[in-house]
Order: sequence, then structure tokens, then C-alpha cells
Amino acid sequence: MQTYQKNQEIELSITAMGNDGEGIGKIDGYPFFVKDAIAGDVIRAKVMKANRNYAYARMMEILIPSPDRIAARCPIARQCGGCQIQEMSYEAQLRFKQDKVKNNIIRIGKQQERTKENPKGFKLLPIIGMDSPFGYRNKAQFPVAKDPKTGETKIGYYAGRTHTIMETEHCYLGSPLNDSIVNIIREYMVLYGVKPYDEETNTGCIRHILVRVGFKTQEVMVCLVIRDNALPKQEKLVVRLLDVPGMTSISYNVNPDKTNVIMGDETVAIYGEGYIHDYIGDVRFRISPRSFYQVNPVQTEKLYEKALEATGLKGKGIVWDLYCGIGTISLFLAKKAKKVYGVEIVPEAIEDARRNAAINGIENAEFFVGKAEEVLPKWYEEHAGSAGARPDVIVVDPPRKGCDGELLETVLQMRPRRVVYVSCDSATLARDVKILCDGGYQLRMVQLVDMFPMTGHVETVALLVR
Ligand code: SAH
Repeated sequence: MQTYQKNQEIELSITAMGNDGEGIGKIDGYPFFVKDAIAGDVIRAKVMKANRNYAYARMMEILIPSPDRIAARCPIARQCGGCQIQEMSYEAQLRFKQDKVKNNIIRIGKQQERTKENPKGFKLLPIIGMDSPFGYRNKAQFPVAKDPKTGETKIGYYAGRTHTIMETEHCYLGSPLNDSIVNIIREYMVLYGVKPYDEETNTGCIRHILVRVGFKTQEVMVCLVIRDNALPKQEKLVVRLLDVPGMTSISYNVNPDKTNVIMGDETVAIYGEGYIHDYIGDVRFRISPRSFYQVNPVQTEKLYEKALEATGLKGKGIVWDLYCGIGTISLFLAKKAKKVYGVEIVPEAIEDARRNAAINGIENAEFFVGKAEEVLPKWYEEHAGSAGARPDVIVVDPPRKGCDGELLETVLQMRPRRVVYVSCDSATLARDVKILCDGGYQLRMVQLVDMFPMTGHVETVALLVR
């Protein structure tokens, strides 16, 4: 086989898409991964790094554009790390995601799709896309830093896989309110000499700006992550931010450490109560800065409907909602269940969850703070044998790394009739599906919901039945 050198130029037909939305083309079976290339393109590319079994290349010129290729809306779509597939038509994006998840479940999960010949395989339902795939995000997180070369303040988005900040006037995925909020904070920093954070020396003040908008309530929250434990001239900032329509909560969060973790432990409200509200369906939710809340409220509603449908709950069942965040899924299921238990690692999120149960008059939900892989086994050990120890349904909605092995082991012991797995990473979903299927479950249904248009990510609901 031919070997390739760095900087060597090649001509490449892109024939597939990788997990993160990069194009893949092969020469004599040897694959090249090319950012911004899409299946169907023929390109000229430069080899950046050649390993034994694969290489990374940079797209230099599009010789023949793919029929799926369209012009990006955003001028920094390629540089910014936020979007990976903005140059792909939305229809092609949906096809790409459907194929990706299906292939992972077949390849890693060792499952088969349902066909006439194979009626026991899983049923893959058509992906649910958005009617209008821009402006969908209710949350924005802007890094703020000192430019290492010019010393100027930079506020924007990270360029892909780096800590270089790209500035932009408008992100097409987010709310238009973000732009005015960023401008107000930028002006405030200039006027009062408030320093941006300097990553190298761990000095300066403002590290991140977090904005959340309740799409149904139109309530707006701003939280500044700062290194010091005080925000200079905070009253001046508050006055200016109150010009933004819907401004409901302004706070700062203190993160003094030299770390990549965005938020610290302490949050101080400087205007309002420190949280905002929003609705999913007819359930009202209180959301704090540190709590996880789905970023695409329009699609979240569809996702939860599908999850609820998959649980098969009709009003009598006992259900666990693991990785429950502020209790969104738990409370959505509560009206169709006898009892719901939720488990979540972030204490503020559980505070929100309990409050959310109360403001919605829901009395059959109980929440635990802790790691799902510790809380569930302990609870089961204490309750094994008693009535109600075996749930009818367990719902899991873990972060990208998937479920802990210990947790899956406990799920297998508790033997719920159904497991509903909500996943934002199909590779770990497939890995965990295999474990559950080896332990006596059958994968019945897989439904994708596109929560993250223009990016390589997608959300999946999978139903496993014992
Ligand atoms: N189901 C919720 C949240 C899903 S995101 C919703 O739809 O809104 C995943 C959540 O898992 C986050 O809130 C995160 O804080 C939490 N988490 C991460 N690791 C955890 C663990 N080991 N045990 C319990 N919760 C965890």
C-alpha cells in the first residue's frame, strides 16, 4: 500500500461521513478524514497527519460539489467549533444521522434491524427533524479571554478543538437576544476596566457568559462566570442588562481555579432570584444556572413524547428516571405513573426538581442526589424483596459517556419490564444496548429526534423489553 507524507496533495472522492460530521474518502481502501467535506464531494486535499490505518487531510478545493452541498449561512461556519455540517442540506443531515445511529447499533450493539425475514430485529422509525432548523438553542455559553497576542478582550465561540476564540456578530443557532447581551457586557468591561480572564496566568476576571432564554415564557437569565469573588461595579452592569426584554435573573458564578471546567460551586444572584422558568408541554420548570436543561425546547417536547410512549405507562407503573437533571422527564412521566423516582448528581438540579414537582402539584415523584451507579444499587439492596422494589420501567438519559457498568448491572438485577434509553451519543448507546441485550433484553424500537441541527449530534430514544 502507498504511504502518504504530510503536506502531500491528493484528489479524493468523499463517500461517507464520520461520527462527528467529517467527510471520509478512501484511496485503495486507506481512509482520509476531512473536516468540512461532505459525502458526494470530489476534492483536492492536503495530508495533515498520516497514521498507519488512516489519515487526516485538509480540504483545499472542491472540484465537484456534492448534490447535498449548500452555502453556509454563517460566515465563520468552518472555523467555529459549534457547527460541523452547516454546508449540508438539512435533508441530507437527517439522512446522515439516521445512518450513523443505525450503523452504530448494528456494528457496536450487534443488533439487527427488523425486516420481513428478521421480525425480531429492532424497528427503526423515521427521524424527527425540525421544520425550521435555525435559532433553536435556548442556551449560549460564550468564553471570554484575553487575546494572547493583542491583549484585547475576546468574546465568542471556540474554534474547533482549540481554545482560540472566534468572535461573531450573530450565531444562527441561538437567540437574537444573545447579541445584545454580549454587546452590553463588552461595553461594561471597557467602561469600567473589567479584565477578561487570562488562561495562562490565571488572572483577570470574566471567564464565561452564560445566557438562557425560556422560549415559552420569554424569561432571560444571564450568569457571568468570574475568577474573583466579586464583580466590579455590578450595579452598572445590572442597569444596562435590564434593557434587554425579559431579563429575569442576573447572577455571577465564582470559579477561581485554573481549569477547563466552566462553572465553580458558588453562584450569587445580583438581580432576581437566580433562576428562570420555562415549560415543556404543560409542565412548568424552574431552571438554575448550573442545572442541565435541554437546549432545544421545540424538539425536547417531541423527544419526551416519544420517551413517554416507549414507557407504555398507563397510570399504574413504578418508574425510575436516572440522570434526571431538573426532573424534566420524571415530571413529564409522573401523570402516567403511580410513582417516579429521579436520580441526579448535581445538587442544585435536584433542588430544582423538587421545586418543579411542587409548583406543578405533582406528589408522586421522589428525588435523590448522587451518582446513579451508587444511589440505585444501594436503594435496591435496602429494598430488595419488598413490594415496589422492582420497577416497571427504568429510563436512563446519561451524558455522552453512557451508563456506568455498575448501574447496568443493577438494572439487570431489578428486571424492569422495559428500559427506555435516551441517548446523545449513539456509540455508547450501542455499547450499553449490547450489555442489556446480553443480560436478557430485546431491542425493540429506535427513534431519532434531531435536537442539534447543523451539528453532528443527535438524540435517540431506544426501547428495550425484557
Ligand atoms: N434527563 C434530563 C438530563 C439529562 S443530561 C433532561 O432530559 O433534561 C444528563 C444528566 O446527568 C445531567 O443533569 C448530569 O448532571 C447528570 N449526571 C452526570 N453523571 C451522572 C451520574 N453519574 N449519576 C447521576 N447523574 C449524572
